[in-house]
Amino acid sequence: MKIPFLNFADSHLQIKSELEAAFSNVLSYNWFVLGKELEAFETEYAVYNSVNSCIGVSNGLDALHLALRALGIGEGDEVIVPSNTYIATVLAVSYVGAKPVIVEPRLGTYNLNPDLVEAVITNRTKAIMPVHLYGQACEMTAIQQIAKKYNLFIVEDNAQAQGASYNGRITGSWGDANGTSFYPGKNLGALGDAGAVTTNDTEISRKIKMLRNYGSEKKYFNEVVGYNMRLDELQAAFLRVKLKRLKEWTNERMGIASLYNSELQGVGDLVLPQIAEGATHVYHLYVIRTKKRDALQQYLTDHGVGTVIHYPIPFHLQEAYVSMGYKKGDFPIAEEIASTCLSIPIWPGMNKSQVLYISKTLKKFYNN
Ligand SMILES: *Cc1c(COP(=O)(O)O)cnc(C)c1O
Repeated sequence: MKIPFLNFADSHLQIKSELEAAFSNVLSYNWFVLGKELEAFETEYAVYNSVNSCIGVSNGLDALHLALRALGIGEGDEVIVPSNTYIATVLAVSYVGAKPVIVEPRLGTYNLNPDLVEAVITNRTKAIMPVHLYGQACEMTAIQQIAKKYNLFIVEDNAQAQGASYNGRITGSWGDANGTSFYPGKNLGALGDAGAVTTNDTEISRKIKMLRNYGSEKKYFNEVVGYNMRLDELQAAFLRVKLKRLKEWTNERMGIASLYNSELQGVGDLVLPQIAEGATHVYHLYVIRTKKRDALQQYLTDHGVGTVIHYPIPFHLQEAYVSMGYKKGDFPIAEEIASTCLSIPIWPGMNKSQVLYISKTLKKFYNN
């Protein structure tokens, strides 16, 4: 059997005619940027995400950048980020000229450890960026309490966790301004790049709408130095089609994860995903850990199973950030995760026999 790490064909086949109709519709009215499809998608996604406002933008990185920018974070400010996040979270902080301040995650959940946050807060700290990594919601109640106590903003990075929740409240609705990504491989993926900011604050929403469109509210009147970071009509139209399936597809992901959980329990030295009390996990990724990671990955490749490492190098050891002066050993939990984690296939439409084949192959690896 040959099983890719990710497959779009299964889910796109279900909605092929709807996607084609969405394309034809945009082509027939010939309006491609900032139009009715975007407006409709923004309204629908805001409802889905239980926020007052969704602002469609060019991608997830730009969403995070604009969120920080709209909150007035910049030069001389510090922003708390987890040590094991995807580089985009940190890049957004760098773009506004602020300093990323690193906090380790819990090794069990891979999410920001709220117990370690207070120790790094200074009088320059302006915001905390919880990243709902792999699809699991962070411990938002504890993070929110700290933010309140020190008067800090929260900017959620919700790129991987559309639909997850903590204590019953959906991710992307907790922070002051939150970024999400509709990169094709995300749980809600466009057919190209796309992203959004979600917020309950009308003034922040207005600022972001201005910033994404050259800093202007009224054409050719520029109030601030803005950007071109818009989400186009075609992608918005495709996203409207896919948003209708998101709940169903999330349930499929959870079903696949629970089959993996029962098949892989107690196999070798595998560490399976652990979920924090009160959190839900929408399994953007199903990540296992093992001391034999590299050998296991090779074995799976040899047996036709695609896997990916999320992520092989924590950002404090990336060349792009050498100027921060970190060295190996500075953030041992992030380094431990980077050297032991492995993401195995999960996608809506993946069938039971594929999950069982992968599980069987993993067991065979440990029996050999
Ligand atoms: C994908 C991702 C982003 C960036 O989204 P893009 O749309 O690729 O720019 C940011 N943060 C996390 C955690 C991501 O997984």
